[in-house]
Amino acid sequence: VIFCSDYCRTEGIAKFHQVECCILPTLIELDMGITPILTYRVLAQIPLLQLKSIIPKLEVEKHQKTRQLQGFNDQGVYDSSDYETLFHLEGNFGARDLNDLLEKCCKAFILTKMLIKSKCYFVDEHGTPFEPSLYDVILVGSTVFMHLINIQPNSLEICEYQVVPLYKSPTGLDAKSLGGGIYPALSLFNHSCHISATRITYGCHKAIYSLSFITKGSEVCISYGEKFFSHSIDQRRSQLLRNYKFKCNCEACTNNWPTLHFLEKFPKLKQSEKMILRGATGKIAKLNPHNRKRIESYMKELFQKFHNCYLDAMKGKNDADTGTIAIEVLEFIDRFADMPCSLYTDAQEMLEFFVLEKQAPCTYVN
Ligand SMILES: [Zn+2]
Ligand SMILES: [Zn+2]
Repeated sequence: VIFCSDYCRTEGIAKFHQVECCILPTLIELDMGITPILTYRVLAQIPLLQLKSIIPKLEVEKHQKTRQLQGFNDQGVYDSSDYETLFHLEGNFGARDLNDLLEKCCKAFILTKMLIKSKCYFVDEHGTPFEPSLYDVILVGSTVFMHLINIQPNSLEICEYQVVPLYKSPTGLDAKSLGGGIYPALSLFNHSCHISATRITYGCHKAIYSLSFITKGSEVCISYGEKFFSHSIDQRRSQLLRNYKFKCNCEACTNNWPTLHFLEKFPKLKQSEKMILRGATGKIAKLNPHNRKRIESYMKELFQKFHNCYLDAMKGKNDADTGTIAIEVLEFIDRFADMPCSLYTDAQEMLEFFVLEKQAPCTYVN
C-alpha cells in the first residue's frame, strides 16, 4: 500500500486500514474495477455498531424527505464528509437491467464475505471478532449492494496532469490515472454536453471552475462524458445511458448541435432585445445593443485577438493574456450571440488549459 503523504498514512491507519490490510491483495487480484474497492473502503470506515444505528435512520429519511433534501443534515447543510450524503447519492436503481443487478449482487456477496473473513469488521466494542447474525449479514450485504450501485456512477477518477503544448496533444494535457474517489458535493452538478463549468483535480481534491458566463439562477453544468462538438449525439447518449442510466436532453442534444467538423466558426448575434447587459463590466458594458455596427466591429477585433492568442498557445506560448481573452470571448458570446460556434468551444478549451497549467503539482511520498 502506498499512501500519498504522512498525513494520509496516519489517517488511513486510524480509519480503515485495519479492515482493508489483509483483504486488499485479494480485492486487487479479483480485478472487479474501482467501484468494489471504493465500496469496501466506505464500509471499512463505518464500524458495524455505527452502521447498525445509522442505516435504519437513513432508510426512514429516504421515504420521508423529498429527493432534493436527501443528504442535507438537520441544519440544512450538505456536508460531503458526512456519510449521509454518500448514502443518498443517485444510482438509478430503477433504470438498471437484471444482468447489471445480478452482477452487483455477486460482487456484494464477495465483499461481504471479505468483511467477515477480515475478522476486523464483525467485532464487538472491544474489537473481538464474533460470528455475525443473519440480520448483521443482511444489513451489511444490502448496504454493500446499494453502494455498488450508487458509487459506480458517482466515483471520479483521480489523475495527475502533465501539461504539454497543444500541438502535442489536442487538449494540451497528458493525464495519468492514479485511482478513484467519491465527491458527493460534485455529484450534485448535472451533466450537459455543452458545459458551463469543469472540475479540476488538485491532489485528492477537486475544484469547479466556471467556463462560461453564468447568469444568476441558471444551472451550472459539468460534463460526465463527451462534449457536443467532439462526439455525435448518438455516441454521447449511448455512453451516458450505459454509464449513468439517463437519456441526455441538454441544449446541445435537444437542438442536435453539429460536431466540430460541421460547426460554424463565428456565432450569430442575438436580436438586440435578447442581448444581456446586466452586470457587465469593462468594454462589454459600453456596448449598446442597438448599435449593431459597433458590436460587430468590437467582435471582429476581439476574435482576431483571440485567434492570435490561440496560435501562440499552440506553439506553447501561454501568457496571462490567454485567460483574460478567453474569458472575454466567452462572456461576449454568452451575452450577445447564439450558440453553437467553434470559437466558443475553442475559448473554453483554452481557458481550461490555462487554469490547469497554473495548478500546483501533487507530491507522492511512500
Ligand atoms: Zn497494512
Ligand atoms: Zn446532451
